[in-house]
Amino acid sequence: MIVLEAENLCKTYRLGGSEIRALQGVSLSVEKGEFLAIMGPSGSGKSTLMHVLGFLDSADSGTIRLMGKEVGALGDEERAFLRNRIIGFIFQQFNLMPRSTALENVLLPLLYSDTASRKIRRPVEFLKQVGLGERMQHRPNELSGGQQQRVAIARALVNHPFVIFADEPTGNLDSVSGGEVMKIIRKLHEEGMTIILVTHDEHVALAAQRIIRMQDGRIVSEERKTSASKVSGSHEWDFSPDRLGRKNYSLREFQEHFVQAFRMILSNKLRSFLSLLGVLIGVACVITMLALGRGARESITEQLSRLG
Ligand code: ADP
Repeated sequence: MIVLEAENLCKTYRLGGSEIRALQGVSLSVEKGEFLAIMGPSGSGKSTLMHVLGFLDSADSGTIRLMGKEVGALGDEERAFLRNRIIGFIFQQFNLMPRSTALENVLLPLLYSDTASRKIRRPVEFLKQVGLGERMQHRPNELSGGQQQRVAIARALVNHPFVIFADEPTGNLDSVSGGEVMKIIRKLHEEGMTIILVTHDEHVALAAQRIIRMQDGRIVSEERKTSASKVSGSHEWDFSPDRLGRKNYSLREFQEHFVQAFRMILSNKLRSFLSLLGVLIGVACVITMLALGRGARESITEQLSRLG
């Protein structure tokens, strides 16, 4: 079964007067349960391709089909919706919220998803699964790079995605931590997860079943080691309308958003105080200016009336 299909994707970045053709007619398809590695030298368009396939960015032309359904022309809201429900991202820079604990980071995607997905598995379980059961209340700066990446993996899994996109997941890690992260990714694949991994490291790409190589925005070679159908995993997708249906916000979810916003304000005390101070000074200035204007007008009117 084909999960993701891209046809003739083109993407050009315009910087000042120059044009950078990051994708020049890329076509590929990914099967369910497949582990695909995208390789190539720096600047060959790997990340751009991953961003386009993962709905983080849009192509200038070409089509993308997700489970047979064309999704290329969707608006921002629909793309965000698909990203949240269907895709789990793992980035080189981890992209964790610095002021939140490991558990809060893993919980975050659930805030923006349906309540049904919460029943699939609890964030605590995912953190235990990646070996961080003891570190749930630690903030990112209290964790090593490898541990931060494992939190990011737990966060990617919490919404029970159909596909995991990993962009250089070991790029910022030492070889031991990188090995641990790859072990988790390989295990996910053995359980049947579809994985698309971007890397420039041949050693990391060895874990994949198929390797495509890019150069100057084009796929220049493809090497298949084993077929996706040979994966013995039991990972099943939940296609129920409840999971993929449009979200209706309940009062409880609204409260959760409010609590999250309040927590963020409290966790950045100095910044919040300075913002508040800025608003206060701004409002005070406006009131003073209005009062001065009014006073000046009254004084002029009085002087004019004295003149008769
Ligand atoms: P890779 O991941 O293989 O290193 P990228 O997809 O990041 O390559 O980049 C492909 C080309 O597009 C590079 O030449 C890069 O400089 C350019 N590029 C990537 N992102 C942008 C951007 N936001 N603005 C302008 N140029 C970009």
